[in-house]
Amino acid sequence: MRNLMKLRSMLVVLVILFLFSACQQSNSAVPPVSPEPKDKAAVDGGDDHEGNNTDTDKDADGTKGTDKGQEIEEEGTQQPEPIDFEKVKPNELGEVMVLMYHYFGETEKDVWWRSFDHFRKDLALLYERGYRLISMDDFISNNIDVAAGMTPIIFTFDDGHISQFNLIEKDGEQVIEPNSAVGIMQAFYKEHPDFGMEGTFYTNEAAFAGSKVTEKEMLQYLLDLGMDIGNHTFGHTNLGRADASTIQKVIAQHVKKMKGYFPDYSHNTLALPFGSYAGATFDYIIQGQYQDIHYKNDAILAVGSNPSPPPGHKNFKPLYMPRVRASESNGKEPDMYYYLDYFEKYPERRYISDGNKDTLCFPEKDKDNLDEQRIGDKQIITY
Ligand SMILES: [Zn+2]
Repeated sequence: MRNLMKLRSMLVVLVILFLFSACQQSNSAVPPVSPEPKDKAAVDGGDDHEGNNTDTDKDADGTKGTDKGQEIEEEGTQQPEPIDFEKVKPNELGEVMVLMYHYFGETEKDVWWRSFDHFRKDLALLYERGYRLISMDDFISNNIDVAAGMTPIIFTFDDGHISQFNLIEKDGEQVIEPNSAVGIMQAFYKEHPDFGMEGTFYTNEAAFAGSKVTEKEMLQYLLDLGMDIGNHTFGHTNLGRADASTIQKVIAQHVKKMKGYFPDYSHNTLALPFGSYAGATFDYIIQGQYQDIHYKNDAILAVGSNPSPPPGHKNFKPLYMPRVRASESNGKEPDMYYYLDYFEKYPERRYISDGNKDTLCFPEKDKDNLDEQRIGDKQIITY
């Protein structure tokens, strides 16, 4: 029985390998339509929110031939099912929205606020239109892993406001405030696990002030949820007006605090307070030193207003990454709802995944947009 099962699984691997190599050899050949929806696989594979990256590919070792080796090899060579390019229209050089949220409340005082109800609407609409959350780290490292046909989206939260996240006591237990961005995300994630639960919180000297819980505990809780913490400077300093030594001080102070709290945690992205910088001192925002603290940012985030090219695109600029403000101005301003409409109108400009994170797949006509330096081990597929 075991041998029969083994034979069957080997046959499956062979068939998959054959289909895969067929799609490699011919750009114009259209692989057969996938008989199963892809979402399920993405849910099973993307459920880990304890901060552990479970990448089965890493497990492949040199023990082929033994039973253990065989099983590992089968896992390691499992390829996503082929997709119909003409139907899915994968475009992994298309644009990605890095959304920027600030404050939440019952009402919206201005464009920097999002009401709880509207945030719930944002999540539902993004989900319905095929957007799926990925982390900032996975975006900048070109490790985008969403199901075929889906578009990655990144959430960022500036200023560490208590309306984004708070821990409260309920029936003697510590729970996430349901009327907070994280509370609303968690409730949505329970119903729609394939949407993902990712976001980076760009904090200052005292995140989530007003909470009864200490800052360290709050940040730890976010990290345990799989969220990230980014640098928004100590003092929310206007870096466009600060001199080089102040810039280095206010960035390094944040790094020092995070290192003090979580020595093993590494996440080096910075959101510019007020979106402000000056050309003459920009290099100090990228890297610098204050006292014994050295820092080097992998990404620097602007304020507003357009989607970002993805990491494989020659125009990808992680050191000045545009963000889209998550507000709704009925097309008057280029914000989230403006670009949701834009991508409905121009679907060919939107990043569409082929469902395989080991490949970079896009229409042949866009090949001049590829940045060959950034593709790493990914296999290029055009159609
Ligand atoms: Zn800010």
